[in-house]
Amino acid sequence: MLVFNNIEKLQQHLSTIYVENQIGFVPTMGALHQGHLSLIAQSQLKNDITIVSIFINPTQFNNIEDLEKYPRHLESDLKQLESINCDIVFTPNANDIYNNSIIASRFNFDGLEYQMEGAFREGHFDGVGTIVKRLFEIIQPNNAYFGEKDFQQLQIIKALVKQNLFEINIQACEIYREKDGLAMSSRNTRLSSTQRKEVPLIYKTILRVKELFKAESYSNIQSWVSNQFEDNPILSLDYFEITDESTLRTIKSKEIDKKYRAFIAINVGDIRLIDNISL
Ligand code: AMP
Repeated sequence: MLVFNNIEKLQQHLSTIYVENQIGFVPTMGALHQGHLSLIAQSQLKNDITIVSIFINPTQFNNIEDLEKYPRHLESDLKQLESINCDIVFTPNANDIYNNSIIASRFNFDGLEYQMEGAFREGHFDGVGTIVKRLFEIIQPNNAYFGEKDFQQLQIIKALVKQNLFEINIQACEIYREKDGLAMSSRNTRLSSTQRKEVPLIYKTILRVKELFKAESYSNIQSWVSNQFEDNPILSLDYFEITDESTLRTIKSKEIDKKYRAFIAINVGDIRLIDNISL
């Protein structure tokens, strides 16, 4: 396994392998878990070379405390990646990636960026767009792997690829869950044992929403979800939405030929967890 933190050295190496190899890329912020590993496994199945990046991108954090407390486990991440035969790991530093000016560019993603996470985390998708565009330009992979866990991000990356005419296939990967349904997330490591016992309610709720969606109205479902969290001393609801999967706009009325998805964001103390489900 080759580990690069220098952009030029990585590009130099890549220039020698592009011609004969299909390259798969998995961008991450580290603190790797089975969810990340499932993306890497899918890349390894389809590509000759798999590159994983580990970079905690400062410009996508709207909250400095969240950035400071974000789990950092580089050493054990590298051990895990080595053990699963990852080919290349890219661990750049912020100044190099941002050419010494750590600010996000502005993007227009046709309104996708203003829904849900965009509304609750100002500037978040400018940060995501900036880093992913930069990583795509540096690595120029054939395929890039993103989790449906961050479904809004996935849709935004697809828009980014279209806008920039990148010749990169975006591969969507299913949400990987703990046995009790909790979506795996690096932030889960910050949960106390009391919080950990309570958080399976998040998936339980959206699973029930999937049932309710067959017969109930959106407003009935909204109220039911709000009630689930109203008196909960540990979990507080940030938002719950049912949207059209492609526009991410809130559902007005159900149409037969459209795909819908329910999205939820929950605060557990200062830890924010998100999840979603196809309806
Ligand atoms: P992160 O390190 O949180 O930025 O995530 C890196 C990539 O892994 C993103 O494409 C995420 O959507 C994806 N990912 C994170 N958690 C999961 C999960 N539980 N299942 C599938 N993909 C995930």
